Amino acid sequence: MGKRIVILGAGFGGLACATMLRKNIGQEHRIIIVDRKKEFMMGLVKLWVLNGTRKLEDSQTSLASLNAKGIEYLNNEVTTIQVAKDRVEVKEHGWLEYDYLVVALGTELAPERIEGFVGRGFNLYDPKQVPQLREKLLALKQGRVVISIMGGPYKCPPAPYEAAMMISDMLVGNGTRGAIELEVFAPSPIALPVAGPKVSSDVVDMIGRYGIRFSPNCKPKLVRDGEIEFENGRRERYDVLVGIPPHRGPDVVKNSGLAAGEWIPVDRQTLRTQFENVFAIGDVTEIKIGQLAMPKAGIFAEGEAKVVAQEIIDEISGRQPQVTYNGQGYCYVEAGNRMAGYVEADFYNTSGPVFTLDAPSEKYFEKKHDFERTRLREWLL
Ligand SMILES: Cc1cc2nc3c(=O)[nH]c(=O)nc-3n(C[C@H](O)[C@H](O)[C@H](O)COP(=O)(O)OP(=O)(O)OC[C@H]3O[C@@H](n4cnc5c(N)ncnc54)[C@H](O)[C@@H]3O)c2cc1C
Repeated sequence: MGKRIVILGAGFGGLACATMLRKNIGQEHRIIIVDRKKEFMMGLVKLWVLNGTRKLEDSQTSLASLNAKGIEYLNNEVTTIQVAKDRVEVKEHGWLEYDYLVVALGTELAPERIEGFVGRGFNLYDPKQVPQLREKLLALKQGRVVISIMGGPYKCPPAPYEAAMMISDMLVGNGTRGAIELEVFAPSPIALPVAGPKVSSDVVDMIGRYGIRFSPNCKPKLVRDGEIEFENGRRERYDVLVGIPPHRGPDVVKNSGLAAGEWIPVDRQTLRTQFENVFAIGDVTEIKIGQLAMPKAGIFAEGEAKVVAQEIIDEISGRQPQVTYNGQGYCYVEAGNRMAGYVEADFYNTSGPVFTLDAPSEKYFEKKHDFERTRLREWLL
């Protein structure tokens, strides 16, 4: 009997999982993937749109090509997840029953949680706002650009620091950098709590070399015209405010009984939820590592997706499970001027998480572009 595997979300994790499954199980098993979006675009592309090396309209890849690969793609909203009845509801399609469910619905952005931010600041993580942000930065002749990380956890912890260095580089090219101050404000006591104090201070040094200041312990309270106020009472003037807004779990997940608070707790090695045939991967999950949680990044969503796919393949084939998730990942920290640093992380290391950061080089910049190319080719082209 063929099995029916339903994957919710055709983002980083969902696409990696569907692709690996399709390559390894027979056509009698159906793989159905549901997403409200018609196109896929990697998160990191937003920074290339910001620095003008990419156009948004050239960066979206249609999800419709999944059908030709034998993955049934439903373009609509998931409205209900009923784990007790092994079914999900998809708008305009009705109920969809499953033998295995993989929840890969990512996060939602909640800029409205910061009073006064919407309409005054730019949301760096909203692709539609990035071209306008670029125009505004290029039009600024002098003044102050404030980059505020507005809460945690947020996707891709190094991204605000990458954005700061890339903005600096843009302003150098524009001939205005000397007249514009750049500062990053983080709510945490160190730059990257998920990567520990050493990498955090390396990152602060890295942005310091571009003349970018860093202020920790600054969680925004409210935004006024030209001024941001932090919970610690500090007030800072801005000419352009770039925000990384608070993130929240998708409502459909919160209403499903799978989440504990915002995110879905999973077994850190198998990615199973409390329901045996329901897995969750990527940004929608929370995997606690001591006081920390695994960061929200595509590389982890992808690694988890492959483990889940292998578990389902093994189970369908009647084999003993062959793999468990190892908590390892990496990312390229773009620094402008065709350079990128490289962070490697091992969260499940037995004596505690370990991290390294390599200095920016052109080699890592090229690898970052390969990172996108190879995945698009494998998943969608
Ligand atoms: C600026 C920036 C730079 C980044 N750089 C990197 C990087 O260099 N390396 C890296 O590893 N990661 C990076 N990331 C993070 C990465 O993009 C995310 O962590 C990754 O996409 C998470 O994958 P996911 O599958 O969990 O969720 P997503 O990729 O967000 O996919 C979730 C999908 O679910 C869909 N969805 C949600 N709710 C519903 C619903 N109710 N009905 C139907 N569909 C729904 C969404 O449309 C979406 O397509 C970056 C992110 C940003 C914003």
